[in-house]
Amino acid sequence: MVVGGGTAGFGAAVAAGRQGLDVVLMETGPKIGGVMSFCPGMPWGGAYPCGQIIGGLIAELRDRLAGMNPPAAATRPCTLANFGPEIVYDPDLAQVVMFEMLEEAGVRVYLNTTATAPHMAGTRIETVTFGDRHGAGVVRPRLVVDCSGDGDIAAQAGVPFELGDAQGRMMGVTLSFLMVNARWDAVFAEGDPYFTRHAERGVAAGRLHPDLARLYLMKGFHPDTVFCNSVVIRGIDGTKPDEVARATQEGRRRCRALAAFLRDEVPGFEDAWMTQLGPTVGVRETRKLCGLYRLTAADVAATRHFSDGIVACANPIDDVMRGAGGMTHDAAVADASYYTLPFRCLVPASVENLLFAGRNVSADPVAFASIRGMPQCMAMGQATGTAAGVALRAGVPVQAVDGREIAARMKAQGLWGLA
Ligand SMILES: Cc1cc2nc3c(=O)[nH]c(=O)nc-3n(C[C@H](O)[C@H](O)[C@H](O)COP(=O)(O)OP(=O)(O)OC[C@H]3O[C@@H](n4cnc5c(N)ncnc54)[C@H](O)[C@@H]3O)c2cc1C
Repeated sequence: MVVGGGTAGFGAAVAAGRQGLDVVLMETGPKIGGVMSFCPGMPWGGAYPCGQIIGGLIAELRDRLAGMNPPAAATRPCTLANFGPEIVYDPDLAQVVMFEMLEEAGVRVYLNTTATAPHMAGTRIETVTFGDRHGAGVVRPRLVVDCSGDGDIAAQAGVPFELGDAQGRMMGVTLSFLMVNARWDAVFAEGDPYFTRHAERGVAAGRLHPDLARLYLMKGFHPDTVFCNSVVIRGIDGTKPDEVARATQEGRRRCRALAAFLRDEVPGFEDAWMTQLGPTVGVRETRKLCGLYRLTAADVAATRHFSDGIVACANPIDDVMRGAGGMTHDAAVADASYYTLPFRCLVPASVENLLFAGRNVSADPVAFASIRGMPQCMAMGQATGTAAGVALRAGVPVQAVDGREIAARMKAQGLWGLA
């Protein structure tokens, strides 16, 4: 059973299904993709440590989209400092292809279905209850992969976690939108991806919220579209539905004000309009679960390559308005180097038939800020789906799975840069 159909859940379900497992994927929303669907058009960032794609399912997805006629994905340099190349894509066609990959892997996908609670028999999850339009139901899974982003099931199963950082501060949440019919040549003429000069004017004039002192505007996949990953709302606990609703409505107001400001004040946007306003805010960070290992800032800085490393990463420390903090993406590692994420960061200490993947990974706040990109989340999912097959075939608890074997299997599945 895979809980949550974000990039991590997609990776877990496809990888497990390809091993012949009978996989149920439950997703509480109407689409798969998670944050990727809540912020349509968001690039798959940081997929290229050392200029080399990390490989595995994200590479397959990119190739399938890029191979369409006309191409529905492309790789380009990121305009923001320290991110390296990124993949841009058509979000609707990405949805089609991701569903096809789930279908081909034989995954049974349940949308609009929320896994609500695990029921334990000692150190095993015996059943998981869920809710859908028909009411409550129950699954008796042999193994659960929690890809809910928030670690909903793992936390209730008793896996310790940290909410945000040690002080409980979480990164800000964001409502994104797309401006269409913008003139790229005029919009990007100044070459500043933060549009600082305009932003400062907008804030000083009271037209933009003070947190919009830097605008994160980037070219969308389709010509003359501009993806606006700009509006951040601070101090929201993404596990609380009422706070998410409140942040989303506040986000709508700020996005509307920003779109009007762009039209009025920024050359190239005169005839543009706002579309693809997210259905809900994208939540960057909530629970980080405690695994057999916790990736640390020191591991990242030392560019450690673990023997059970399952994905390479060189993403910057992408910290977004945690508490009163700013928006920073300082380089995590020197050029042409990278670190790897150990499989043990996806394995709880005691629950025998539970794994987790994605933004609920076991990592300290600094390491988390680097490892949380969608390509890495998808690879984490791929590793857990692969490990599920190994554990179930051998009939052993997940803690007995040799992480080095998972690393070797990931390497065989095309993941780059592993030991
Ligand atoms: C605003 C924002 C901007 C970002 N920018 C970038 C970027 O430019 N590039 C990049 O690569 N990364 C970016 N990231 C990071 C990246 O998007 C996330 O870290 C990543 O998508 C996390 O994937 P996930 O699958 O772990 O979690 P999520 O994407 O959060 O998916 C979790 C899924 O689980 C579902 N779910 C939750 N609870 C349950 C339940 N109980 N039952 C069933 N389903 C459930 C949710 O509906 C959701 O679909 C950004 C993140 C945010 C929020």
